[in-house]
Amino acid sequence: MPSSDRTIELISSEISGGKSTAQTVAARSLDAAERLNGELNAFLQIDRVGALRRAKGLDEGAGAGGALRGVPVALKDNICVRGMQATCGSSILAGYHPPYDATVTERLNAAGAVVVGKTNCDEFAMGSSNENSAYGPVRNPWDTRRVPGGSSGGSAAAVAARIVPAALGSETGGSVRQPAALCGIVGVKPTYGRVSRYGLVAFGSSLDQVSVFGLTVRDAALVLRTIAGRDERDSTTADVEVPDYVAGLGGDLKGARIGVPRALFGEGLDADVRARVEGAVDAYRDLGAEVVDVELPHAKYSIAVYYIIATAEASSNLARYDGVRYGFRAEDPKDLREMYRRTREEGFGAEVKRRIMLGTYVLSSGYYDAYYLKAQQVRTLIQRDFLSAFETCDAVLTPTTPTPAFRLGEKTDDPLSMYLSDIYTCMANLAGIPGVSVPCGLTPSGLPVGFQLMGRHWGEPDILRLAHAYEQAHPLAERPGVMAE
Ligand code: GLN
Repeated sequence: MPSSDRTIELISSEISGGKSTAQTVAARSLDAAERLNGELNAFLQIDRVGALRRAKGLDEGAGAGGALRGVPVALKDNICVRGMQATCGSSILAGYHPPYDATVTERLNAAGAVVVGKTNCDEFAMGSSNENSAYGPVRNPWDTRRVPGGSSGGSAAAVAARIVPAALGSETGGSVRQPAALCGIVGVKPTYGRVSRYGLVAFGSSLDQVSVFGLTVRDAALVLRTIAGRDERDSTTADVEVPDYVAGLGGDLKGARIGVPRALFGEGLDADVRARVEGAVDAYRDLGAEVVDVELPHAKYSIAVYYIIATAEASSNLARYDGVRYGFRAEDPKDLREMYRRTREEGFGAEVKRRIMLGTYVLSSGYYDAYYLKAQQVRTLIQRDFLSAFETCDAVLTPTTPTPAFRLGEKTDDPLSMYLSDIYTCMANLAGIPGVSVPCGLTPSGLPVGFQLMGRHWGEPDILRLAHAYEQAHPLAERPGVMAE
């Protein structure tokens, strides 16, 4: 990592050492966000006034001891920040301003972070390329003709372009790890129940987790430590102690065991991606870890299972957008029924409608057993595959994505090929386990590649330590073409 990179570690030392102020850092971040947004479309809202006011308060002594004091952050537009919009990338929530902070927002604020803006995303977090946003696609800072990945593409692009050192996204099936890989940064999806979802707009409730982007593993670990832990307002958060993920980094890898499911390195995996990921496996061997073969016999069903369970849950969660409670309402309906129908018809985009229909179908009485119930059964088998793999290894290593960043428009007419982008990521969401994507070099044409480590439930310390060890030995020296400064 070149020393000029604007990591949290660097920004914090500049502020605490008196070399910079929260206001200077915030202004720099806001300037970059505004200047690059024409090219990247990463932000849906940039809060210059609010962020500078907040930074001034910090410089005047508020939040003195916070671990993120003066650190600018960006939040995906499906996470609530009081006073800012939360559109989820959808027209149906245009103009919606939640009157409260998500728990993750509260915790970032309590640690001294400065929220500079809300980031663009696929509508209701449904997508793998950020082309499903009602507000236009995000562009990849490494090559603006290409997608940043999705659905948290705006947050990924904002970090990759060094607008902010860290950002939050959300994961239902890979929406942080996948864009992290395509944008050459670190993305961490925690164990299900690790981070509160109070104030995160629901997509697939048995899968969703707020997740973290950072430039480095250490930064991502620090942000995760800040937001993790039990929350009385979210009954799915577990009362499990939050370890100090940052203090746990370092040390050698003697005795560590990395499991490689070779069967997943076959068909459909891009040759350049494979080569870089094989390089990461070799690197772990060189670092003293033991590399073992593992099998995940049911992993091949994960896309099918994911797109049944996620759409079923989405169809139920999205029933609340009826024109009465939030955001957009169709004009001049002749009666209540038409108001519902036209609000949803005009307010939702094509992918969201496709998923509501698919989800309603798999939950319908005639097909419930054949699809939804069957998917739940296979989900259990996928979970068991991981439990048995973790008897012989501490982390399972795979590519994060089958290909590097693809071109805008390349997959928009083919939803199935788009869904295949999640082939390596959605199994962790189905199993409820944590995963981290780590950059492992560039393709010959200069596009980032990432590998992923998946760990045991509550095994964030293990995968972060392993990821950090790789990163220390193999920092990604190159940086994207579109960048702050
Ligand atoms: N790409 C996946 C989907 O479209 C994952 C989305 C997500 O993780 N939010 O469902």
